[in-house]
Amino acid sequence: MNKWENNIRRVVPYVPGEQPVGDRLIKLNTNENPYPPAPGVLRALQEMDYHRFRKYPDPAASVLVESLAEYHQVGADQVFVGVGSDDVLAMAFLTFFNSGKPVLFPDVSYSFYKVWAELFGIPYETPALDGDFRICTEDYKRENGGVIFPNPNAPTGLFMPLDQVRKILDGNEDVIVIVDEAYIDFGGVSALELLSEYENLLVVRTFSKSRSMAGIRIGYGVGSPRLIRALNDVKYSYNSYTMNMPSLALGVAAVKDQAYFEATTGRIMATRQQAKVRLRELGFSFPDSMANFIFASHKRVFAEQIFEALKKEQIYVRYFKQPRLENHLRITIGTDEEMERLYKFLGEYLG
Ligand SMILES: *Cc1c(COP(=O)(O)O)cnc(C)c1O
Repeated sequence: MNKWENNIRRVVPYVPGEQPVGDRLIKLNTNENPYPPAPGVLRALQEMDYHRFRKYPDPAASVLVESLAEYHQVGADQVFVGVGSDDVLAMAFLTFFNSGKPVLFPDVSYSFYKVWAELFGIPYETPALDGDFRICTEDYKRENGGVIFPNPNAPTGLFMPLDQVRKILDGNEDVIVIVDEAYIDFGGVSALELLSEYENLLVVRTFSKSRSMAGIRIGYGVGSPRLIRALNDVKYSYNSYTMNMPSLALGVAAVKDQAYFEATTGRIMATRQQAKVRLRELGFSFPDSMANFIFASHKRVFAEQIFEALKKEQIYVRYFKQPRLENHLRITIGTDEEMERLYKFLGEYLG
């Protein structure tokens, strides 16, 4: 071993779902949206003037910040945008979790939280979900350095009603509470309506799931002007130009088309409803998902075995070989046609 190797930071990185390529494959493993982005996004792409690439983009990302502020009926000083919500969340960890006390997040939740905490040297504790995979609000009443949880939670899909979110906020006036709403557009009720009451609340959203733009990388946080100012100070101390010019224009175009947004999220919710019926008939059980995926386990056949069989059939779902999760599959809601192929194969395989 060379001496310089002692100076290298060692981390265990987050492992994203596979991105296999092929015509025939059905990809239900990373919670992407099966429908294309809004048609206005394509128009904005075609009208884009590439001469503008010569210049730096607007560091304040004003066009996108303003369109999101209008969409959510908040001030432009209440919106922070980033390169996917992963960027927003990483900035939020850096900005808000500096007390030296442990940050709290559920043992079963978005696995990136732990990775950021380790990377930034932030202590953390992970209160266990109960036997039904629900967050116990009581666990978040202890002394801590901040709280973060997804709502609906991932990979369970369970939505926590706002009166419970409020309980967590009421027990945590002295720290910052982040609600990661990556899946809120599939039927949940947003904590945005609590913003006027809690200056220490940050709500984080993404264009990756409900807006079909995972490849463009847009996420944002909404909170009090003081939180947003603090996030911007850290961002400008790290990388001023996080948002590139095309993503700003495409993001604005996506926000404009409310009708398309409602139509596609509505279709996904209808397909999810159908999936619950069909998967139950096939012998699966699962928490009642409010997200664009279902976290299912089979009464007879082990999850890993089903996962491998599906993969051979070129149907990709997500399998986590981890305690508490190892007999579950996280199945993203695809189009009705994709889901039919899934049920058909499962019917034959399990039947
Ligand atoms: C997908 C996801 C994100 C990250 O999404 P981006 O593509 O980075 O916007 C964050 N949190 C949860 C819970 C997610 O599922």
